[in-house]
Amino acid sequence: MKSLKELTRPNIWALKPYSSARDEYSGKEASIFLDANENPYNTPNNRYPDPLQRELKALIAPAKGVRTEQLFLGNGSDEAIDLIYRCFTCPGQDNVVAIEPTYGMYQVCADINDVEYRPVELDEQFQLSADRLLAACDNHTKVLWICSPNNPTGNNMDRQEILRLLQEFPGLVVVDEAYSDFSTQPPFRLELDEHPNLIVLNTFSKAWGCAAIRLGMAFAAPEIIGILNKVKYPYNVNRLTQEAAIEQMQKDYEVKRWVDSLLEERARVLQEFAALPVCRHIFPTDANFFLVRVTDAHRIYHYLVDAGIIVRNRSHVTLCKDCLRITVGTRPENDALLDALRNYSQQ
Ligand SMILES: *Cc1c(COP(=O)(O)O)cnc(C)c1O
Repeated sequence: MKSLKELTRPNIWALKPYSSARDEYSGKEASIFLDANENPYNTPNNRYPDPLQRELKALIAPAKGVRTEQLFLGNGSDEAIDLIYRCFTCPGQDNVVAIEPTYGMYQVCADINDVEYRPVELDEQFQLSADRLLAACDNHTKVLWICSPNNPTGNNMDRQEILRLLQEFPGLVVVDEAYSDFSTQPPFRLELDEHPNLIVLNTFSKAWGCAAIRLGMAFAAPEIIGILNKVKYPYNVNRLTQEAAIEQMQKDYEVKRWVDSLLEERARVLQEFAALPVCRHIFPTDANFFLVRVTDAHRIYHYLVDAGIIVRNRSHVTLCKDCLRITVGTRPENDALLDALRNYSQQ
């Protein structure tokens, strides 16, 4: 791995971050706060939130099996994705390499930051090849984007190939594990200590049932987390979000129940879907959704919209011709989908 200094955008490496009132004094003993020009009325919304979300991190870190210094919290994983570009790539100069197809935000954030995005197609089984990804890299490649289980394909990327990338690629390897709660594979965040160039992304938006509160996580070596923290907005995770996440962490048994029942439902839906006349091929999934090749994705998509059921048409995505991406819902929701498709006429 190159040194973190070589990998960091030079102005960011040199940056002296904004120091907020809450950074300079964060003790709990004081009772009179006259340091941040807040309004003394309208408790609790009158006070700025903790910029480093300490109370929340103290709950998340042990639950995720990492140390608090290895944890960054942001306004969704999308904030972490954008920050990785802003901290570790130089616009108009550096590039990143990613699997294709995958989550669209990696490319959107590359485009926003004027960083060249190099997609490398997965094979017919939607599997990655470390050799092909490494062959797409040059001396200006700073970041590799891997998503596992991958969106929109649903499958896990080969663990041995990811390990080879972590060993052989001299830049940062991001493994987006937004769906790892649904997966049978062990998560990469538990291997942070072995891989100084690894960044793992997680989110509260999927298994944790909290897409509305906008809370994402990045796990990495403390030095990498320090750079992300230096560049983020001082109060990037608001008080209402921190509060809601603390409440959800205290009810983590709910998440386990949700995951168990969604996995059960997924098995049932996959089995029934396979018997539908519209179904041509269901791709293997380790997530709370599945990708399916159907007889006519465009027509079926609009038929479902007319029935009030919205799925994701992925037909125009690389390797996904005539494919729909379908999220596993509640049992009645899934039954409504299956019923509608049983009544679909191919003519
Ligand atoms: C849904 C999803 C996310 C979540 O993004 P948030 O900003 O945390 O809601 C991240 N990565 C992938 C691959 C996703 O599918």
